[in-house]
Amino acid sequence: MPKSTPRKPDTEVNLRHGGRATDTCPRCGYVRNKKNQGKLLHGIPEVTDSANLRGVVGRIKDNLMQDRSLVGDPAAVFMMGVLEARIGGHEYYLYASSGRTAEPWIKPRHLDGITYHPGRWTQANPTVPANNRGWLTVRGEKTDLREGIAGVHRPCSAVKLLLGLGGMHLDWKSVDYVRMSEMVYVGPEAEDAAHMRVWHGRAATNSWTAHSCDACEARIPYLICDVPPHWFESP
Ligand SMILES: [Zn+2]
Ligand SMILES: [Zn+2]
Repeated sequence: MPKSTPRKPDTEVNLRHGGRATDTCPRCGYVRNKKNQGKLLHGIPEVTDSANLRGVVGRIKDNLMQDRSLVGDPAAVFMMGVLEARIGGHEYYLYASSGRTAEPWIKPRHLDGITYHPGRWTQANPTVPANNRGWLTVRGEKTDLREGIAGVHRPCSAVKLLLGLGGMHLDWKSVDYVRMSEMVYVGPEAEDAAHMRVWHGRAATNSWTAHSCDACEARIPYLICDVPPHWFESP
């Protein structure tokens, strides 16, 4: 039986995915919290975690652990992620699991019992580009990432969520927030999961995850940039 891990207290409300608002954006060249005439250039200066989202991804994990069909693959190791956003006055709720398998790990039945906006969650399962070319920002604009990002093709849940949001090609008038939480699922017989645990915190089965992997930390800043190309700082 996997050991259960006590939840960390919700003191870390400012966990970030993909750096800080004070970082310089690699896509447009502006500091992410720069304002122009009192208005932020970036609609999403940073992506934070939230206690509500940790509750949702924790519930999904609990449902997965009780899913007998997953016992067929007790060595399963994958990332789970959830995202909430309010854009143009509308709210969006997405979930995703890492990997390139045709069938995502998380199925609609694994959403049972979610108390935070039940019934509103939809799966994001976009194809993650195989290299640094041909990505999509959350605003639905094409972008290339810089060369040399190790693991640039990695099909993490975080980038699936952001690509999924971009694929919706939303009307981009105003952004109130984009928040995300991630967690690693480690099956009871998983071997070689040490790399996941290194990325995602304590060496405990199904541990809470706080931070994105290095590849995500490098990719997320490009994907959350919603500055129109004609504003870009010339290099
Ligand atoms: Zn930018
Ligand atoms: Zn990652």
